[in-house]
Amino acid sequence: MRVAIVGGGILGTSLGYFLAEGGVDVHLVERSDNLGGLVAPIELDELGGVRVDRYYHCILNSDRHFIDLIHAVGLEDHLQHVETKMGFYHDARLYPMSTPLEFLRFPPLGMLDRARLALTILACRRIKDWHDLESISVEAWLTRLSGRHAYETIWKPLLGAKFDGDFAQVPATYIWSRLVRMTDTRDGAAQKELMGYLIGGHLPVVEALAARIVASGGTVQTETAVSEVLTDTTGRIRGIRTSDGDVAADAVVLTTPTGIARRLLPERLAPIADRWGKLDGYLGVILLLVVLRRRLTPYYTTNVTDTSVPFTGVIETTNLIAPEHVGGYHLVYLPKYVYPDNPYTTMDNASLEAEFMGHLRRMFPALTDDDIVTTRLFRERYVEPIHPIGGTDRIAPIKTEIPGLYLANTSQIYPALTNCDSVTRHARHVSSLIIEDQFSAQPIGNDALLATT
Ligand SMILES: Cc1cc2nc3c(=O)[nH]c(=O)nc-3n(C[C@H](O)[C@H](O)[C@H](O)COP(=O)(O)OP(=O)(O)OC[C@H]3O[C@@H](n4cnc5c(N)ncnc54)[C@H](O)[C@@H]3O)c2cc1C
Repeated sequence: MRVAIVGGGILGTSLGYFLAEGGVDVHLVERSDNLGGLVAPIELDELGGVRVDRYYHCILNSDRHFIDLIHAVGLEDHLQHVETKMGFYHDARLYPMSTPLEFLRFPPLGMLDRARLALTILACRRIKDWHDLESISVEAWLTRLSGRHAYETIWKPLLGAKFDGDFAQVPATYIWSRLVRMTDTRDGAAQKELMGYLIGGHLPVVEALAARIVASGGTVQTETAVSEVLTDTTGRIRGIRTSDGDVAADAVVLTTPTGIARRLLPERLAPIADRWGKLDGYLGVILLLVVLRRRLTPYYTTNVTDTSVPFTGVIETTNLIAPEHVGGYHLVYLPKYVYPDNPYTTMDNASLEAEFMGHLRRMFPALTDDDIVTTRLFRERYVEPIHPIGGTDRIAPIKTEIPGLYLANTSQIYPALTNCDSVTRHARHVSSLIIEDQFSAQPIGNDALLATT
């Protein structure tokens, strides 16, 4: 059986790897000139080709599935763990927020607020069954647990920044997943924050997965866009149409965001496309990368609760990644999560950059022109799938009624957050479904029966 995989991000390449390990002939097709999707790096030509993450990526100790994959492809030596720190930018001041003591000293909150915030985190860790949280709004749940003042001071601005100001329909499962994941970075009695990164970024992992697919007899094609899923007159899967010709396959897995996957279905599969359309909302991201000659903050993440600041946070990845791995520079990422109708999505790069840099300079008045080496602006339409309150039933299933047609993308990952760990786990699950289907689809003849007895 040959399986065509559309998309060469972490999901597509890890799925291809798991399938190839299971003896399946894989043909993976990626539109861009290199693999990786959101984890693909960029080269800064003006700095002699220094390669840096386009979108920052850290690895947590609890990312077992992704760490297992790193080991499986022999890249465990690239994995580094570092103690990191977190800050808060509140009321035009920067506060440390890395240790329980710093948390207890955080001035914007009174003793009662702090106690309730700590209880909120404990409550999250105690909840194992998330189903009840699905029908409660994140606002109602956090107000109940943390109290109105802590909600207004901390949670509301953070949620507003993450969800482009509109989180009325976001269920409590979101913050539950997030807090559980973030507290997983905490280590030992001192509750130090530990994070991991890969020397050379995530690209070597993706390339190693692709190499395993090829070594098993499969094919990996880049710079090739898929334009349609091909079916025969009875609706059976025939393969895919690509910019480089048709590829015959018995099964097709679409790992692209749902909005793209729907457009790849032929007219006769319109009912499936309609069903997939029930939950295909995604937040996009606009991100300014600022390359500096010096460190800006001591923090990996600085959360921003000042609602006049347009970006969601300040992520200084070189407080995790040793600067020597990125040309000796210091990298600061300013992400802004956006709905498709946010005016920023149509604003030109120069104006966006001026707006973001204006706010960064206001936050850090000591930042000078000499400190700034270069900047880059990135935009991505599909980043975080939106799961509204009670939306689980509308999540598109992996299998379709067409045998051999599968959808496998981040919109199906819930209530876990989408990250390389949950994506890898999803890929493994999808690969088992496909391999199971492959065997159940084979009529077992007498010869096969005799061979197994
Ligand atoms: C700003 C930011 C920060 C993040 N931070 C972290 C983090 O710290 N830790 C973490 O674990 N995760 C993080 N993530 C999330 C992580 O990057 C994603 O969950 C993961 O990369 C998703 O992989 P994917 O393969 O599902 O999707 P994608 O990477 O989007 O891959 C989809 C692929 O399909 C291809 N494609 C689309 N259309 C076609 C077509 N017609 N034909 C062929 N190919 C096509 C695309 O080019 C793309 O390569 C972050 C993401 C962002 C944006």
